[in-house]
Amino acid sequence: MLRRALWCVIAITGICFGQLHSDFDEESRAWTLSNSVLEAKIGLGLAGTFEFRGIENRETRDSWRPADGGSSPIRLQVDERWIDEKSAFRLIRHWTESNVRGGLRQSILLDEVSGLGQILVEFEIYPNLPTLRYGVRYRNSTGKSVEVAEADPVRWRLLAQAPAFRAMRVEQWLPSLDANPADFERVTSTVDTSGGVLSVLSGAHARYCSWLALSDTAGRGLAFGWEFNGRMTVDTRHVAAENRLEFSGRIPELHHPVEPGDSFQVPRAFVSLFHGGPDEAGHATQRFVELALAKQARDSRFPYVSWDSWAYYQAIDEETLRRQATLAAQAGVELFIVDLGWARSIGDWHPDPVKFPRGMRSLSDYVHSLGMKFGLHFAWPHASLESPVLKQHPDWVASVNTLYYGASSLCLAHRPVRDWITSEAIRIIDDYGVDWILQDGENMVKDCRSKSHTHHPDDSNYANAVDGLDAILSEIQEARPHVLWENCENGGNLMTYQMVQQYVTSIVNDASGALGSRLAVYGATFPFPPRYSDRYMPEQKIDAYTARSYEFGGPWILMNKLDELDARSVAFLNREIERFKQIRSFIREAKVLHVSDAPALGRTDAIAAYDKVFDTGIAVVTRDGSDAATFQLRIGEFDPGKSYQVTFASGGQTFTLTGAQIAQTGITVQLPETRYSEVVYIAPIATATELFK
Ligand SMILES: [Zn+2]
Repeated sequence: MLRRALWCVIAITGICFGQLHSDFDEESRAWTLSNSVLEAKIGLGLAGTFEFRGIENRETRDSWRPADGGSSPIRLQVDERWIDEKSAFRLIRHWTESNVRGGLRQSILLDEVSGLGQILVEFEIYPNLPTLRYGVRYRNSTGKSVEVAEADPVRWRLLAQAPAFRAMRVEQWLPSLDANPADFERVTSTVDTSGGVLSVLSGAHARYCSWLALSDTAGRGLAFGWEFNGRMTVDTRHVAAENRLEFSGRIPELHHPVEPGDSFQVPRAFVSLFHGGPDEAGHATQRFVELALAKQARDSRFPYVSWDSWAYYQAIDEETLRRQATLAAQAGVELFIVDLGWARSIGDWHPDPVKFPRGMRSLSDYVHSLGMKFGLHFAWPHASLESPVLKQHPDWVASVNTLYYGASSLCLAHRPVRDWITSEAIRIIDDYGVDWILQDGENMVKDCRSKSHTHHPDDSNYANAVDGLDAILSEIQEARPHVLWENCENGGNLMTYQMVQQYVTSIVNDASGALGSRLAVYGATFPFPPRYSDRYMPEQKIDAYTARSYEFGGPWILMNKLDELDARSVAFLNREIERFKQIRSFIREAKVLHVSDAPALGRTDAIAAYDKVFDTGIAVVTRDGSDAATFQLRIGEFDPGKSYQVTFASGGQTFTLTGAQIAQTGITVQLPETRYSEVVYIAPIATATELFK
């Protein structure tokens, strides 16, 4: 590999790692980054400006160029002066390196000529992906303290090549236990052609996922994602009269001091080129997220079948949980999670001596002895007023106190809080034998104006996101890398591309039932890979409708009382758990197809996964009170001339259909009851028995 890389250096006077290239042309002072499907150009202008010059999908030939006036990824404000597309830079040096995820990083170090400081611009590309990731880092080389008060991670000024653009956003979860159509709702709208703003407010406790997809009338599409857990707005403007399509991001209330020699990282972001509709936007984004960003579970069984104790609320104890653990293991559960209520109080993270007289290790040893992983709820950004930590340090509470089960918010950006949480987390992991942390809390990016904390009083959003939440997670995860983390902010309120780097999954449905589960999965699987939609199943009656409503996505988390299930439910559940285990890795890797409209009462909904390598698909079709007892499942991905075998989870007839028939007339799916769900398997005749035995 090394020899190959060296050969490339000599041959093309650039750098290549496998199929990834970055070439620098001295004359035009331009870098060209490319892989098999993407080519991106950036360069230095005659006046020293740093410019985006163009990006192209080499397969579809879709390309995007800068608008008049130029476009630059650099845009931030240092001591009230802008460093942006108009600024002049001197090139200090530039270099490339490969990274552990198989990508190529091009780094370019610049000096702002008026003396505001240095800028490090980084670009990343990955094999076979039409995605460019980038980041801008400011280094204070002025010799005095400065303040960054604006930073724009999504700055693009593009030539509008079409008369109109459609934009797609996806909402986060609205805290409520009922299925709400606005939970993970996909919102599609035409961008106003006269410059009206279309906004995406993302981050902890905000409205949208940190994703925006946009396509023009010719099907050319761009999907943006930004890697920031704090609140942030990305605005889109289309000024048709000037042929300009503009994107800009804004981090509110930014006042970040940067001492001499220190740096400020503008949150990283990425742009994926796609061609076609919403599923293409999702697929391009998800392939990049899985390959380049997402925290790896490093367990082929992931996403797990799990059980969570919340059916008992906080009334849990060792005996009850031992009984549930025994039944869970018999049902095939792989991860056993103890939810809120195990500790003396929130913030006093020692087992309640009445509920757990033998301590937490006794239960976790038992869970491990049954072959399951042990998960523990940990709402670490909170502490109740009677907890020893707040009695000792009442000043650790964030000035804007969002309560979680009556417990106060700790300011995560305050250095002593950060150190205490980190050491508590490591102690809990070690003492209680924890493999999985169910992290919960009310708004994970706290709001704090305290003048006595270690952060700047007006910098809470950035400081609590980056120096608080991110820094704490990174310290704990570095110390205890074997532990997997689940994001569970309020049912799915931290849906960002920073979150995917820190957690192996995220809740998208706070036990709001079968319909709520499908609704959340439907929306969340546009911006995020399916494993980032875990679902909590509270139902006590398990049938085709309930069980299969939870089978598409990430970890399937049972949240019921296993000893109170009737015999039919137990038998059905056991069979469906086996099914989930058969299809989970397929769904994890495949392209998600949103076959129907979003799920709703009185409708039949369908979602599918298609794997191009095996030319194989799986669909879950659910009748939720509609009149029709059949559904025509049409999927256009299959080879029109090839024959496929179609089988169903409920048994019944096996069909042989051509790809053209599946696309046009579709597969007739029988849904005999008004609330019923079916799993459909589609595979080429030759391999069908091998793939789905
Ligand atoms: Zn604070």
